[in-house]
Amino acid sequence: MPDATSIRPLPADQIAHWDHEADVVIAGFGVAGASAAVAAAQAGADVLVLERTGGWGGAAAMAGGFIYMGGGTPLQKACGFEDTVENMKAFMKAALGPGTDEAKIDAYCEGSVDHYHWLVDECGVPFKESFWGEPGWEPPYDDGLQYTGGENAAPFNATIPAAPRGHVPQMSDKQSGGERGGGYMLMKPLVDTATALGVRAEYDVRAQTLVVDADGRVVGLVAKQYGKQVTFRARRGVVLATGSFAYNDTMLRSYAPKMVGRPAASIEEHDGRAIQMAQALGADLAHMDAAEVAFFCDPQLYIRGILVNGRGQRYINEDTYPGRVGQATLYENKNEAFLIIDEAAHDEAHTRPSATPFLRHKPKWVCETVEELEAEMGLPGGALQATVDVYNRHAANGEDPMFGKKAEWTKPIGSPVAAIDLRGMTGGFTLGGLRTSVDSEVVHVSGEPIPGLFAAGRCTSGVCAGGYASGASLGDGSFFGRRAGRSAAAAS
Ligand SMILES: Cc1cc2nc3c(=O)[nH]c(=O)nc-3n(C[C@H](O)[C@H](O)[C@H](O)COP(=O)(O)OP(=O)(O)OC[C@H]3O[C@@H](n4cnc5c(N)ncnc54)[C@H](O)[C@@H]3O)c2cc1C
Repeated sequence: MPDATSIRPLPADQIAHWDHEADVVIAGFGVAGASAAVAAAQAGADVLVLERTGGWGGAAAMAGGFIYMGGGTPLQKACGFEDTVENMKAFMKAALGPGTDEAKIDAYCEGSVDHYHWLVDECGVPFKESFWGEPGWEPPYDDGLQYTGGENAAPFNATIPAAPRGHVPQMSDKQSGGERGGGYMLMKPLVDTATALGVRAEYDVRAQTLVVDADGRVVGLVAKQYGKQVTFRARRGVVLATGSFAYNDTMLRSYAPKMVGRPAASIEEHDGRAIQMAQALGADLAHMDAAEVAFFCDPQLYIRGILVNGRGQRYINEDTYPGRVGQATLYENKNEAFLIIDEAAHDEAHTRPSATPFLRHKPKWVCETVEELEAEMGLPGGALQATVDVYNRHAANGEDPMFGKKAEWTKPIGSPVAAIDLRGMTGGFTLGGLRTSVDSEVVHVSGEPIPGLFAAGRCTSGVCAGGYASGASLGDGSFFGRRAGRSAAAAS
């Protein structure tokens, strides 16, 4: 047996013996892999899923559980919101770019209501018909719907009718992350559905190398299991669904250097191997610099004050999606942020419900005046004072002409006033990866699909090219995972 620790594809004629075979072989049993497995099995294929860890779930099972869906889902309607496919497309193209894959977003939005029905009616994913309208990363209770992309905030709310599209599976006695999060209640029904359809799974199997025949078609892969090489033949297709490269420092340095040392909302198995396996076959890549960037502060807190950078200047409307705050902080403001908040607003924040009360950081400096505060913070004299003067002048009328924060959150900053040190409080996961077609075929640099090779989830570039909305990963992972499974099952 040739050494399959090499990333280079192995010629099929060097495989003397196939240890396992199936119509469709899927690497990774997270959201994209499970969705691919269900869809391939529903299309009549014999499916085998290979998972590197000892159990299914991946990052998806630990996730908050938002799935980005819209265009008039039954849950949106039940909660009293109108949405259209066109408004969803317009928002996604505006907020998730620059450089979004228009065809992918069109397909995603046009198929979103159908996808909702697939999740609910065919896979048994439960959603509670209630809307969570408080600021926050996710609902603290089991509510099913929330704004998760800044749709109802500037700059988007001025031109695109807003609708909440973050759909969270219902989990009673919920806790953020782990087996009591919404992501688990997406994954469990998906895996149960796959199992009921006869999908087989092999655990502790790490896919390492693709196998190609003389025509350049992917016909299987070689993996490691308990230190031994194991071969898997795929009669119809291989689906790569192994997650992002958030934990591969070498790749991060090459493609997304601002994310080095700050992986979050991902798991260490996200090592980019599948991306490189396909690259070694000539696969094209897209948006490798894009990343989801979480901002580690409770939105209930910072929405009630102003965020300033290391020069004491405001840089964003604080009522937008927290992931936009994270990107603006890391990318445009040297990862430096301070929350300026007065005592009354601070105390009010602490009375409000939140899924992330542990992100209510304590003030580092507290003063009677902004002048004293900026001196204690070591900011240039007058810098913060000027920022607060301008903010307060307009906030007195409930206006924010600088960034368009909504009137309900725009109140003058009074005294005593505090600064909370939020420097370095960002982390996240990569959004770039293999370029795939709308049918989840892996695309060669020539523009042609690579025969027999399909991919979905965070090892691919999905609907996000630069910006992010919570739910886009479980959303495009499940949506294009389904298509990967269907396409692989139909391949010959
Ligand atoms: C705490 C937390 C909260 C989050 N909240 C949300 C949210 O609300 N909404 C949202 O959209 N996203 C959220 N995310 C992100 C989301 O979970 C991931 O981006 C998403 O799961 C990616 O899907 P995937 O199928 O590509 O990867 P995963 O779901 O991680 O699945 C990949 C699987 O592949 C396995 N694997 C890796 N390498 C190999 C290999 N070589 N061979 C075989 N198997 C391999 C992994 O072990 C894993 O099981 C969150 C993540 C976390 C951790």
